[in-house]
Amino acid sequence: MAIVNAREILIRATEGKYAVGAFNITNLMQMQAVIDAHVEARAPLIIQTSVSPARLIGLDVIVAVLCAIAERTEIPICLHLDHCEDVVFCKRCADAGWTNIMIDASRQNFEENVRMTREVVEYCHALGDITVEGELGTVSGVEDQVTVAEDESQLCNPEQAQQFVSETGIDLLAPAIGTAHGVYKTSEPKVDFERLGRIARLLNSEEVRTPLVVHGGTGLPADHVSRLIEMGGSKFNVSTDLKHTWIDAHYEYISAHREEYNPGKLDKYSQEATKSKVREWIGMLGSAGKA
Ligand SMILES: [Zn+2]
Repeated sequence: MAIVNAREILIRATEGKYAVGAFNITNLMQMQAVIDAHVEARAPLIIQTSVSPARLIGLDVIVAVLCAIAERTEIPICLHLDHCEDVVFCKRCADAGWTNIMIDASRQNFEENVRMTREVVEYCHALGDITVEGELGTVSGVEDQVTVAEDESQLCNPEQAQQFVSETGIDLLAPAIGTAHGVYKTSEPKVDFERLGRIARLLNSEEVRTPLVVHGGTGLPADHVSRLIEMGGSKFNVSTDLKHTWIDAHYEYISAHREEYNPGKLDKYSQEATKSKVREWIGMLGSAGKA
């Protein structure tokens, strides 16, 4: 089927109390493995890239390859641009065929965040069936997870979130709730579950209008994931986990087959490792059979 935007699949997920994995890919072989795992599990999927891999691979190339693969499958697949701080690049991706765009102006003050986010929303909504994710508060790197988690001012204020959604017209909100990018250094990351619950009640209690995104999925314990889904999270971003899996698989295979020089076998090995990591995520998110 044709690639889809994120809104409908995430509304269904929120209502059904499961979540959809949004996997950051850095190359096309890895993307294929992520898709294969979802096709086998009949799970909805969000493929995402950050700005650098999008530039490296080429916007038109990613769209062409993903659309060709998606046409052969029955599951809904969304193509999402992750954490883009540049309004112009957001628009370029929308022009190229991306179906969901994240404008991340969360480092700006509130007014500027609203202004930049609204500009992207207006552009994408006028262009076609393209949805937009905005961020409020600071989703930190893992280095400063503790400071951010302890400093309420950097987390997403629920009342302000309501104002942000209504002033920008975004389709999805990524509220900072203490999760962090990278690998957590503790087995108990400081996540503010109640804050997510409060935001969900303010935005989605009568009907689900604005699905909520959890950044920093890698390393979250399974019980945290379930609790975040229970609280209203429906899109989980997974990036570091896939990068580690890809690199580790290459290292393992090359270390064991130093004289082989067979790229096909190396690719296959790394794809299998990726698929098995993605299957773990599908299990934690409860998305199997939902497509
Ligand atoms: Zn993120």
